[in-house]
Amino acid sequence: MPRILLPTPLRPYVDGAATVEVEGSTVGTALGALVERHPALRKHLYDDAGKVRSFVNLYKNDEDVRYLEKDETRLSADDMLSIVPSIAGGADLSNEEIRRYSRHLIMPEVGVDGQKKLKAARVLAIGAGGLGSPLAVYLAAAGIGTIGLVDFDVVDDSNLQRQILYGASDVGRPKLQAAAERLRDINPNVTIVPHETRLTSENALEIFRDFDVVADGTDNFPTRYLVNDACVLTGKPNVYASIFRFEGQASVFWAEKGPCYRCLYSEPPPPGLVPSCAEGGVLGILPGLLGVIQATETIKLVLGSGDSLVGRLLLVDALAMRFRELKLRKNPDCVVCGPNPTVTKLIDYEAFCGIPQEATMAAATAGGIPEISVQDLKSLRDRGEDFVLVDVREPHEFAICSLPDSVKIPLGTLPQNLNKLSTADEIVVHCKMGGRSAKAVRLLQEAGFKKVRNLAGGIDRWAAEVEPGMPRY
Ligand SMILES: [Zn+2]
Repeated sequence: MPRILLPTPLRPYVDGAATVEVEGSTVGTALGALVERHPALRKHLYDDAGKVRSFVNLYKNDEDVRYLEKDETRLSADDMLSIVPSIAGGADLSNEEIRRYSRHLIMPEVGVDGQKKLKAARVLAIGAGGLGSPLAVYLAAAGIGTIGLVDFDVVDDSNLQRQILYGASDVGRPKLQAAAERLRDINPNVTIVPHETRLTSENALEIFRDFDVVADGTDNFPTRYLVNDACVLTGKPNVYASIFRFEGQASVFWAEKGPCYRCLYSEPPPPGLVPSCAEGGVLGILPGLLGVIQATETIKLVLGSGDSLVGRLLLVDALAMRFRELKLRKNPDCVVCGPNPTVTKLIDYEAFCGIPQEATMAAATAGGIPEISVQDLKSLRDRGEDFVLVDVREPHEFAICSLPDSVKIPLGTLPQNLNKLSTADEIVVHCKMGGRSAKAVRLLQEAGFKKVRNLAGGIDRWAAEVEPGMPRY
């Protein structure tokens, strides 16, 4: 009887044997006899239509049967029929991987073919923060073979409320170092490619080149436009999500198949109009929800199955627990993915978003707003000088920490509370980090206040540099 030689991943289905003797005088009847005796093998060798799967190559001794008589190729008693999974179908799965991914392998939508696609896939996550954490955790667990991460941050206490890649023992460590360790622990089969750098117009195309799918988990507009444009220019799908407080958005921008981010938002909002999560807050679970949607879309793209979010914007309202969907259209005048693009290479995205080069924290502090440092404020207080301190944060923030004797007027209510302040007084305005108070200073200046200054760095810097016992948030 001819023998069939099985590759390692298929041996568990034949009680671990490397070769099996079968009845059969042709390749077709021998394989048929094999799966008859070991039915679990069938789905690995044949597709639903009963055809031998494309990644399975069959050799009679050292000859590929496709170049002999295919199924009809005759086998004699001392012939060896080898089952050789093709390299192009992705690397083989080891026995450990077969056990690890068994819940995938038994689903027809994934199966061995799909798992090999996942293993061969290279996914780049921009940002290893709130969105990047659940995204990377699930991609690693699912067996995405290569995961690139771009981030240059250090783990902070305030990250732990949502960035589930990190634990208390990671505080102070570079995020990518901690992330790579955690991801390798989840799945040692995954190759982690850390890019410990800020994504810039200079390095984006070079970094993107090695990946099939890019997942955008950034928290700022310059990087979001940069990721979009770099994806359009390199032809990669951009799995997008963004979050704020209780709300999120998700889509897949892929210029070859549908709209890009610029088709949806051709221009960024003016700096300071849309508060960041650091200023406005975010429900810790929300990036989990949206990051998992990104992971799902990424895996569907790799498997080539299901309906992706291309051309659809998913809106998530976690407070109402409502998911809505908007139809997105490709903008024929899109400057980057339209037929006559004017953006044909990466530009200066900080300038495009109206952010001056040197301003790092709050863009609104630029533009001639008078400031006072936390040290100078301390001297004013120590000397007992006469001035009014105005806190423009929200009431729930006052409850966390505040400076004694401050007048508490949330920024949104400032215009109708100007009568509580006098233009004759020296005024120092503060918020958490200096962004909102800068707007307050401008508002007061426009209302005729001349002696008004912004506390640079806000109460957060005060806590960091002057009053170490004060809680920071
Ligand atoms: Zn576009």
